[in-house]
Amino acid sequence: MDYESFFEAKLDALREEGAYRVFADIKRKAGAFPQARNHGEIGPRDVTVWCSNDYLGMGQHPDVLAAMHKAIDECGAGAGGTRNISGTNHYHVLLEEELADLHGKEAALLFTSGYVSNWTSLSTLAARMPGCIVYSDAMNHASMIEGIRHSRAERHIFRHNDPAHLEELLKDAPEGAPKLVAFESVYSMDGDIAPIDEICDVAERHGAMTYLDEVHAVGLYGPRGGGIAERDGLMDRLTVIEGTLGKAFGVMGGYITGSRSLIDFVRSFASGFIFTTALPPALAAGALASVRRLKTSDLEREGQRAAVAKVRQRLNGVGIPTLDNPSHIVPVMVKDAVKCKWISDWLMENHGIYVQPINYPTVARGAERLRITPSPVHTDDDIDRLVSALSEIWSQCALARMVA
Ligand SMILES: *Cc1c(COP(=O)(O)O)cnc(C)c1O
Repeated sequence: MDYESFFEAKLDALREEGAYRVFADIKRKAGAFPQARNHGEIGPRDVTVWCSNDYLGMGQHPDVLAAMHKAIDECGAGAGGTRNISGTNHYHVLLEEELADLHGKEAALLFTSGYVSNWTSLSTLAARMPGCIVYSDAMNHASMIEGIRHSRAERHIFRHNDPAHLEELLKDAPEGAPKLVAFESVYSMDGDIAPIDEICDVAERHGAMTYLDEVHAVGLYGPRGGGIAERDGLMDRLTVIEGTLGKAFGVMGGYITGSRSLIDFVRSFASGFIFTTALPPALAAGALASVRRLKTSDLEREGQRAAVAKVRQRLNGVGIPTLDNPSHIVPVMVKDAVKCKWISDWLMENHGIYVQPINYPTVARGAERLRITPSPVHTDDDIDRLVSALSEIWSQCALARMVA
């Protein structure tokens, strides 16, 4: 086999359908977020980032940076081992306690990323409970889908955010079979929010466990940043709450929280937890500082809500079509893969504005978009420049506007 031609042909096919991924080579400027330096073809030059998942700018928060510097000086660079063999650092233990408390659960378990936490926890739970049947929301993240697939458990997909369909599927399950319902709170591409209470009602009626991914909600919603379930007073109804330390918390890592025995079960049986080097102590220390800060400070959340409202209002004012939703995510709908990529390049080259195009397979064909994430570190001037640039390109491309 000619391996090189095989790889090239597959990549060419991706390019043809506009699905080939090009990474922007940027250097973020601590203390000056959302400003960054673009080192790509057009660079080096300064750009404003409008598509970061560091939703609150915690990646440059002084408390977080100080905690990380301190931990490097105290503990060195790496953890030095897996959690089982010399790698459990005191910062991991403190962080797990903090996260359990954040979600009102007995215990928490850290992973090297949110992806790994979903993949590993779902695959372990579904594979290790004999006869387990998994019910997965149609829009679930790849990390959940892959984890469930790997478990080889029987699985059913329920229509997105549709508790009635979930109930229909659950009704057919054999009496007494273990069942697991996996879903998210804030869905990151459309920014819509799950009816958590109704899904929990259905799950409870059928004796199913619930597993909620709050990756795009932790730090952002609820009085202490515990997510949508905290905001709505539903945390105790969920069996597992999963989150990331890499988005609103601004650092890196993932986790699950739940009962002491469930967490101990995953800790004891999950390959993706056991056989990998623990997170560097400085990451755990930085995440700990970030979680603690957002438990007691509303400043960042308020700033974000104000920026989101302002961006939405301004875009509506000039008729740029956005997907309406109750969250912090502002999807600007282009609905064409080639135009979406082209507009993104144009914004970068002509205005130093960086918004990554979101194309298939991340979203459906015909639903291509620019996913804008306003944050408390974006200034009014940043917003003005974004809105006028988008308005200019909308006219140039003769794209449809919404009637205000
Ligand atoms: C980003 C994401 C993850 C993975 O989290 P990481 O910490 O980035 O690995 C999991 N679930 C959802 C819904 C996500 O968007």
